[in-house]
Amino acid sequence: MPVMAVVGACWGDEGKGKIADFFAERADYVVRWQGGANAGHTLVNRWGKTVLHLLPSGVFHEHTVNVLGPATALNPWQLLSELDTLKRRGVRPRVALSDRAQIVLPVHRLLDELEEERLGQAAFGSTRRGIAPFYADRALKINIRLADLFDGPRLPERIARNLTAKNVLLEHLYRHPPVDAEALAAQLAPLLPRLRPLVTDVAAMLRSACAQGKTILLEGQLGALRDPDHGIYPYVTSSSPLAGGSMAALGLPHRSLGDVIAVVKAYATCVGAGPFVSQIAGDEADALRRAGGSDGEYGATTGRPRRVGWFDAVAARYGCALQGATAVALTNLDVLSGRESNPVCEAYEIDGIKTYDFPASALDRARPVLTALPGWRGTIRGCTHWDRLPPEARSYVGYVEDALHVPVRYVSTGPERESLIVR
Ligand code: GDP
Repeated sequence: MPVMAVVGACWGDEGKGKIADFFAERADYVVRWQGGANAGHTLVNRWGKTVLHLLPSGVFHEHTVNVLGPATALNPWQLLSELDTLKRRGVRPRVALSDRAQIVLPVHRLLDELEEERLGQAAFGSTRRGIAPFYADRALKINIRLADLFDGPRLPERIARNLTAKNVLLEHLYRHPPVDAEALAAQLAPLLPRLRPLVTDVAAMLRSACAQGKTILLEGQLGALRDPDHGIYPYVTSSSPLAGGSMAALGLPHRSLGDVIAVVKAYATCVGAGPFVSQIAGDEADALRRAGGSDGEYGATTGRPRRVGWFDAVAARYGCALQGATAVALTNLDVLSGRESNPVCEAYEIDGIKTYDFPASALDRARPVLTALPGWRGTIRGCTHWDRLPPEARSYVGYVEDALHVPVRYVSTGPERESLIVR
């Protein structure tokens, strides 16, 4: 199968960027099919540390085409700024943008911010990148597509249509000055010469790549628990991060999808609001947060401290099932080094009843049923051989594998590309 997907099994921030970067080396195309700049992938390689919000993780590989599909939320300003940052480091990635991709406008971002402010304590914890207002406009069929930007005579009409209802909201709900259609058109105009060479019929390009047996790597954004239908609604994102939907989103035959690698962290983290059963607090949480990631557990897009907790077998098993995972990449195992023991959440207790299934409601009343697995001494950071892991670390991976019902094929032992065990 030429198409492989790397996706998140939980709340996001599982380390998909690093795992995708590893596979990208062998990929002809690295593709994002959903979402926008509301998540961040952190890549650590010979160019140093790079956080990408919109561009796919194949940008460091010269032979790889980095693709944004028709169903992504494409913020052209963000895109060009990420390209500029890479250019300053001497990296000029190959990029293809779908002519059918709809664009995130500054007014989407503005509305996202104003709405979160209005909600106050009840806010969703949005990344404020305009994603929900953008996908709302997609459903309302008033967004502007990249192709429309080059359709001169009709563009002003489309912009005006997009702004009519928003300006009423801006003035009367948010007490904010309206957005001027001509000013928006003037903001878009300078982007066109830079965007034009990147825009193409991505679906046709990928279908032909499939036919030629090229290697296509799909990169999911966020995680399964943020799926609008199957996730922790309403604390979800506005597009589906599930691998199953990727083929339709890209205009590829469903049978093209092969391996689905679900990325799972060795413990749990969550940026933003919503139920998080195995969450811990206080000093214990601070210590895990400081030890985590390449520079601690702070959101790559927002800089917000991530909520942290123990490995949640109930949530991760549910996420892997939703993703249709054929293999798991377990990340951040090194972070658990040097601990006496490692609690894991094997079940939830809801109203006195133990459950191993992830429920649709009552998550806020669910209590974690914890069991402690033995810890290991010394660091495993950078370990690349399964046999060199301490026995306790191997049995931790074994526990995860049994709990998820999916083989753990990859174990990540550090943020660097090389710090990976392939089993
Ligand atoms: P993504 O959105 O799923 O790509 O995840 P992020 O990039 O937001 O977060 C993952 C963080 O963990 C980043 O800071 C990575 O550099 C880091 N990371 C990834 N894998 C590992 C690992 O195995 N060990 C450690 N210590 N950090 C890792």
